[in-house]
Amino acid sequence: MKPPSFEYFAPTTLDEAVALLAQHGDEAKVAAGGQSLVPMLNLRLARPAALVDLNRVTGLDYVRAENGHVVIGALARQRAVERSADVAARQPLIAAAIRLIGHPAVRNRGTVVGSLAHADPAAELPAVAVALGAEMVVTGPNGERVVAADDFFVSYLTVDLAPGEVLKEARFPALPPRTGWSIVEVARRFGDFALAGAVATLTLDDQGAASDVRVALFGVADRPVRVPEAEQVLRGERPDDDRIAAAAEAARAALVDPPSDVHASAAYRRHVAGVLVGRALREARERAQASG
Ligand code: FAD
Repeated sequence: MKPPSFEYFAPTTLDEAVALLAQHGDEAKVAAGGQSLVPMLNLRLARPAALVDLNRVTGLDYVRAENGHVVIGALARQRAVERSADVAARQPLIAAAIRLIGHPAVRNRGTVVGSLAHADPAAELPAVAVALGAEMVVTGPNGERVVAADDFFVSYLTVDLAPGEVLKEARFPALPPRTGWSIVEVARRFGDFALAGAVATLTLDDQGAASDVRVALFGVADRPVRVPEAEQVLRGERPDDDRIAAAAEAARAALVDPPSDVHASAAYRRHVAGVLVGRALREARERAQASG
């Protein structure tokens, strides 16, 4: 199908983009890599009257290390972030998550920030943002505000962005020392959106106990979810196999009402979520131990 007609704008500065978005209110949509937006337009699931294309805005394609964070601008393509030396050195979980997204052709155009703004509940990067406690920097007609990832993801394809606002950048905290990480998922075919997935990070203290542990799930609710029930089982404890099995069981039990569809039942998603949390925690523990 072809998209319904819309007015097209290609601003060259962020201020101009914000002014155009403010002018058109909730009738306008931002376009970044177009990898989610264009299919939605073609299927007529989105019908904006105005499209504000960010691609000609200069200076938004940065990936940089700054104040203990990896900072990713709105036009940094997933492929560039996947290959960034700063990301590899400071937060390799981001690159691992991107490798699970679609195929190289999708990642060549798709942006990290676009994936966060799109907020598909089965997407990898929003779950990474929630697990790491990333910050979203939002620019709008009233200036800039910073939103914690936990508050940013509201519901299915819905984030804390008002009409007129653009997600300018995402700030991911760098991996602390003695921290391991993992992202694992089950998808019908490689490159498909996950039926369920888990992200984990685990920090070990000098005694080998878990001083910090973070677990997030994707594909099992209307947004990415942190799983404090699983984290509590491990915090302050040595992460041996029994403890990790108990954390995985806690994650499974905490999952009250996962979605059911033609691809997977709620019961299947709950079971797989528990299995993936166990797998992710074991892999994170191994990486933490190997890091010295
Ligand atoms: P666009 O498509 O341009 O925009 C998406 C939405 O976000 C739109 O509503 C747009 O208005 C909004 N938006 C974008 N940027 C901003 C901004 N800076 N500020 C405010 N709003 C903004 N994703 C996965 O996570 N996992 C997968 O396995 C996966 N597989 C895919 C397979 C295929 C075949 C395809 C085509 C896509 C797949 N994707 C997958 C989606 C891909 O990651 C998209 O690139 C991403 O979701 C959106 O990024 P984009 O830059 O293309 O955004």
